[in-house]
Amino acid sequence: MGNSPVFKEWLNAFDNKNPFLIAGPCSAETEKQVLETAHLLKNTPTQVMRAGIWKPRTRPGNFEGIGKKALKWLQKAKQETGLLIATEVANPQHVDLALQHDVDILWIGARTTVSPFNVQEIAEALKDTKKIVLIKNPVNPDLELWLGAVERFYKQNITNIGVIHRGFSSYKKKKYRNIPEWQIAIDLQNRYPDLPLILDPSHIAGRRDLIFDLCQTALDLNYDGLMIETHPNPDKAWSDAKQQITPKKLSEITEKLQIRKKASKSSDFQKNLTTLREKVDSLDEEIMDSLIKRMQLAKEFGQIKKEHNVSILQNERWNMVLDKMIKHGKTGNLSEEFILKIFKAVHQESIEHQKHILHKK
Ligand code: PEP
Ligand code: MN
Repeated sequence: MGNSPVFKEWLNAFDNKNPFLIAGPCSAETEKQVLETAHLLKNTPTQVMRAGIWKPRTRPGNFEGIGKKALKWLQKAKQETGLLIATEVANPQHVDLALQHDVDILWIGARTTVSPFNVQEIAEALKDTKKIVLIKNPVNPDLELWLGAVERFYKQNITNIGVIHRGFSSYKKKKYRNIPEWQIAIDLQNRYPDLPLILDPSHIAGRRDLIFDLCQTALDLNYDGLMIETHPNPDKAWSDAKQQITPKKLSEITEKLQIRKKASKSSDFQKNLTTLREKVDSLDEEIMDSLIKRMQLAKEFGQIKKEHNVSILQNERWNMVLDKMIKHGKTGNLSEEFILKIFKAVHQESIEHQKHILHKK
């Protein structure tokens, strides 16, 4: 899969003054709800209406979707409003039904992307399609798995593709329902700069008050579009009630969002940018030099531990170092999570260097 500009072609067919916007309920519930949502979305910048028909629930017994019958409701929504329609497909039968009902965008859910067998079957069912296929990230933070799914579609001669970043499941539930791990999406963007990248803030957030900030971050990171769960009566939604917003709220959010230019030709901007980049480059060099020096010291540690036959890991000392660094980081507003990540990585590398010395005959 080369860096083919062909990927952006489908996206360029939409008005791109604003971010590409997909909105609509987590699930289609009733004909009335689907049509009401569609008409309300018509007054927002939404270009495509989404609705889940087959819902992959983590636990059985939750609402599992209306099924095939709801495809007719979506078709009717499209006829009445002119909005394009999108739904999730999780197997070849879903694909057939969605194609029969002229669904414009088919997306692959996070629980499907994790399975290369499922993805392969769906990709084969869609072979040569001109429909738009959007691939959500897998539930686990694995860039290769995500890319693998994209490549399976591309290999079936499907080029109208894009990806949706919906966050990653984590055992430690904190602020987000699914942690964003922005770096994974940025890595994907670096590998395939022409692959349209869409944020799904609803499934990352899990709650409606975080949606605006997530959308703004995505635009600041040059994402191409947004997919936002929208419901006429969010609290009464049959699935994902806490994270859905009303069409009115959707309009407020889109109005507030700042679209930033990828670059500016103003010479002041360029000069400031260059100066800042030089400073950052020199700090990065300093960080690298310090790391190199630190690992040389690790080797010396290894040497004396070897001479005195002492184990590499000295827990007490390590906890003290971590504690001190977390406190220090806080004085500059660095998060504990960030400090832990860095120092665990540094410690791991340092253990490797010490091991090398200890194991040398
Ligand atoms: C959805 O979009 O409603 C959905 C089920 O999403 P995900 O596959 O990201 O969990
Ligand atoms: Mn949902």
